[in-house]
Amino acid sequence: MSVIEIRDLRKVYGENVIFSGVSLSIGEGEVTSVIGHSGSGKSTLLRCINLLDPPTSGKIFIDGEDITAPGTDVSRLRQKMGMVFQSFNLFNHLLVIENVMLAPVKLRGLSRQEAYDKGMALLRMVGVADKALEFPADLSGGQKQRVAIARTLAMEPRIALFDEPTSALDASHTSEVLNVIRHLAQDGLTMMLVTHEMEFVRDISTRVLYMDEQGIYEDGSPEQIFEHPTRPKTRDFIQHVRSFEYRITSRSFDLYEMNAGIEQFGLRHYVTAQTVKQIQLIAEEMIFNLLFAALAANGDAEADEDIAEDIDINFSLLKEERSGRLKLFFDFASESAFSLEQGDDLAVGIVRSIAAAVSEHYADGRNLITVEL
Ligand code: ADP
Ligand code: MG
Repeated sequence: MSVIEIRDLRKVYGENVIFSGVSLSIGEGEVTSVIGHSGSGKSTLLRCINLLDPPTSGKIFIDGEDITAPGTDVSRLRQKMGMVFQSFNLFNHLLVIENVMLAPVKLRGLSRQEAYDKGMALLRMVGVADKALEFPADLSGGQKQRVAIARTLAMEPRIALFDEPTSALDASHTSEVLNVIRHLAQDGLTMMLVTHEMEFVRDISTRVLYMDEQGIYEDGSPEQIFEHPTRPKTRDFIQHVRSFEYRITSRSFDLYEMNAGIEQFGLRHYVTAQTVKQIQLIAEEMIFNLLFAALAANGDAEADEDIAEDIDINFSLLKEERSGRLKLFFDFASESAFSLEQGDDLAVGIVRSIAAAVSEHYADGRNLITVEL
């Protein structure tokens, strides 16, 4: 029997249909990841499943019991579903261990001693037992989220729902938390997970749901969704999350926006903070000190700031699936082949000292410079 079964679930806010026709059956130990653009209804789906937000129509069964039937003991059934949020939601006036003990004592009737022993074991499991007697405010984001996970597990849920558990964390804290979730998945915890960490989704999921067009648009194994998506919007989405692209059409382009995009890409693809800095440095040297200079020498754009600039550089960044190698691509038109060696010595030196390889390709008036890290 499935742990959770959803039949024809629908959620509407006013005139706005968030999703309809959602049917799903999740078996014991399955890890179901939900992916999709922001606003596609992923959080709403999770909130409806654990009845934090009532579904407009449809049915949800847990271990065969209809939790949407009128007159059911919602609070007892909700205890079968643990939820972990992006924002941790710890009680800041309670010690870490008290946060973990609270619900088992209040809702499950455990003695304080039992709840304490169990809570300590869970805190050990997620690696924060030494923080048991501190307040949440004294913990890092990654530690807080691990406490939140321990608190959820303390209720021994049948299924744990994670809504972007690492979105508020930087790269190193993200990996701490993802490693805990991976461990739980390997231990057979049934879970549903919303995250932007696509490589992680691919690694740990037994099944992936892509949400779009007010529902589950495509549903399959991680291999299907990431390697052979069958529907057009899934394909576009996978392409979009796999690479970062930035088009530069002016010398005064928004560097902060580009760098923030590189950081986002880094977070999604397990790129260390140091490597993110290196990518940003290469991109800046290439764009400002090499390409802008080369394009100025080529045309007459620099003559007058007000003249429409002849700048159009496509910068993209990709992490190769198999090798994990990072590649930066700079694609732009020019009258003659661009060569790094003709550029400013210092900038060339910086790029060469960081990059593992640089290749230059010129055909049909277009340059493609590839920098590999
Ligand atoms: P996701 O988690 O995929 O980014 P959400 O589930 O948060 O998307 O939101 C889906 C849509 O539902 C959005 O258009 C959002 O504005 C709308 N929405 C979410 N919560 C509410 C609410 N409480 N009232 C009205 N609209 C809402
Ligand atoms: Mg959301």
